Order: sequence, then C-alpha cells, then structure tokens
Amino acid sequence: DNGRTSSIIALDEQWGAHNYHPLPVVISEAEGAWVTDVDGKRYLDFLSGYSALNFGHRHPALVQAAHEQIDRLTLTSRAFHNDQFGAFCEELAELTGTEMVLTMNTGAEAVESAIKVARKWAYEVKGVAFDSAEIIVATNNFHGRTTTIVSFSDDPVAHDNYGPFTPGFVTVPYGDAQAVRDAIGPNTAAVLMEPIQGEAGVVVPSPGFWADVREACTENDVLLIADEVQSGLARTGEIFALDHEGVRADLYTLGKALGGGIVPVAAVVGRADVLGVLKPGQHGSTFGGYPVACAVGRGVVELLRTGEFQERSRELGAHLHERLGELSGQGVAEVRGRGLWAGVDIDLLAKTGREVSMALRDEGVLCKETHERTLRMAPPLVITRDEIDHAVDALGRALKA
Ligand code: PMP
Repeated sequence: DNGRTSSIIALDEQWGAHNYHPLPVVISEAEGAWVTDVDGKRYLDFLSGYSALNFGHRHPALVQAAHEQIDRLTLTSRAFHNDQFGAFCEELAELTGTEMVLTMNTGAEAVESAIKVARKWAYEVKGVAFDSAEIIVATNNFHGRTTTIVSFSDDPVAHDNYGPFTPGFVTVPYGDAQAVRDAIGPNTAAVLMEPIQGEAGVVVPSPGFWADVREACTENDVLLIADEVQSGLARTGEIFALDHEGVRADLYTLGKALGGGIVPVAAVVGRADVLGVLKPGQHGSTFGGYPVACAVGRGVVELLRTGEFQERSRELGAHLHERLGELSGQGVAEVRGRGLWAGVDIDLLAKTGREVSMALRDEGVLCKETHERTLRMAPPLVITRDEIDHAVDALGRALKA
C-alpha cells in the first residue's frame, strides 16, 4: 500500500455514511472481468456487483449505446414522450415473453412497485376488502431496503429499529410449498419470492417447489411475483431463474443487470391486465424510463437475444460448480447455486468469510462474504474457463493460508 489506498479509504470513512463494510481495495478502472485498483494492481472480479455486471465491465456495445444517447438526449421526464421508451418496453416484453413494462430505477423500487400493483389489483379486480390485502413472503428473503420492504425482512440487521412497519405481509418458510398453500386466504393478493435466494447465500429450493406454488396461486387467484433482480437476465443460464422450473410468474421484478452496470435501470414486467391497474398519475419516478436507461436497456436486451450469455452461464457454470466441488472437505462445507452463481459455505473449523475474502483479495480475486461463513460468487458472464480455474485455485490457497 503506497498510501493512496488508505487515504481514499479514510475519506470514505470520514465523509461517507457507514452503511457498508467494503473490502479494503480502491478500484479505479475496469474492463470485462477485470478491475484495477489505484495502485495499478489487477483483480479478477468474481462478484460483478451482485449480478449487475453480467455482461462484464463496460461492455463495448452498452458503452456505445450510452454515449450515443447522452450525445442526443438524456432526460425528458415522463411528462413528455421520448423516442426510446416505447421501443425499450416492446423489446424487453418480447424478450421476457410478457405483455407490459413498468420502468423504475432500482431493484427495491421495482419490488415496491410490484407490491403497490398487487394491492391495487387485489382491491380493484379481486374484490379484497380495502386495506386488508396480504402478500406472502419467505423467510430469509431479500428484496431491498425501503421501509416497506424491510418491514417483512427477518434479518435483524436490515429490519431492527426502522419501525413502525408496513403491515400486510405473511412470512412462510422458503421452499415449503405446503406452507404457501396454507397461508393463502381470501385476502391474499400475491406470493412474492426470489426464485433463488441471493442474499441468503444462493439458496435453491427443491425441484417441484415452484410448480406447486404456481398451482396454488392459480387455483386461488393469487399473483405470483418473482423477484428476479439478482437471479434474472442470464445469471443462471436462462432469462429468468424460474424458466428452469418451467414456471411463469404473473409479474417479474428486474434490476441490476438490466442497466448493464452503467446506469440504474429496473422494471416490473408481466401481465397487462395486472400492470394495467395503474392509471395516469398513480405511480411514477422522474428517472424511471428516462432515455439513457432505455437506450442502455435496449442494448442489454439485444445482448440477451443472442443467447450467448445464457449459454456461457450454463457451460461455464457447470465448470465452476465442478471445480468448487473439488474443494469440499478442504475448507468448503457446501456449494449451492445454478449457472455462474454460487454460494460457498466455509467449514466451521476453517476461516471466516471475511478472512477468506481478504486472502482472495491478496490473491487478486475479488468476491465478498455474506453472513459469517458464506462466500457469494457471481463472476461476469464474459469470464473464461481459465479465469474460473485461476479463481478456484486461489480460493483453495486462501482457505489454507
Ligand atoms: N431484490 C433482490 C432479489 C436483490 O438481490 C436486490 C439487491 N441485492 C434487490 C431486490 C434490491 O435491489 P437494489 O439494491 O437495486 O435496490
């Protein structure tokens, strides 16, 4: 450390709110799967902004789309039409096999919007008595940080001392379809869950869970809302993680990779009769669907249309999981996940997650602990087989060191 890293970190700590616990590395440049710190040291990015950088850092087509749009028009607000919005919505709906798109900026906003839409739908279409709609959510969920969303978080760190909380949420154990069925009542508007739980440590429910939940929702006229903010857009090898289960949701929330890691873009996509409950003036956001977001989002849709990233995630994901499996019993207790996405539990007798992510940093690989003993791996989908080997070899050494 030549002092530059520590002086920048000191600035962060003096002037920035302390709501994160970053690894002590200061990144100043990036390209593809690699980032460079202020001292010129290169690292393989094995986290990619928790799936926001599925196409790698500064994908040339997305950078070009952003540049071209910024040179022409940046913001109109939705008080007027712009020449990008409709095209983005059409292309995203076609890609996702959905009928309508509500544009927002962040994942949490997309989830908030889906909650509002589901409630309004329950009152206006399903006939639920006013102010009594319920939404079924899962244990260990993560859907964002707004007051309403943390109301139904069971993580004390995310939840405690932010009350009074928004009522109307019923929590059931994640992965238990019978519990979902039992929780459904006359006031149930929706089931809102992550198809694979990201922040919980990449938790994949057992096969059949989603088909059962879908069936329970359909039988009871309850909306299924899949939060695909982290799992969607090729991360697991399909557009949606739910696609692996042969299940369709009524609404999907998208964020992160939808903006290519360049601008914040989020959306709720799904049934037109459900999103159609929103009438002019009833919901919105100044930047939601602004021209730069739409232009970059259109670039993202175009990349996903090729299927190339989905294929990379499937093929290289199999390789990643195979290689991580070799570390079992050597500091690794369990590996979960799908495609290029892995939750790696570290043995109780080995190191903590923080110690391992620090040792990995020293090895030139960046990823981050979640909870005490889990590492979350979500490399950019442009990563190569050799780079995966490099990272897993480094993890093997980091666990020993
Ligand atoms: N939903 C899920 C499943 C997420 O993983 C996240 C972010 N980790 C969010 C919502 C919130 O997204 P944002 O941070 O953009 O608000």
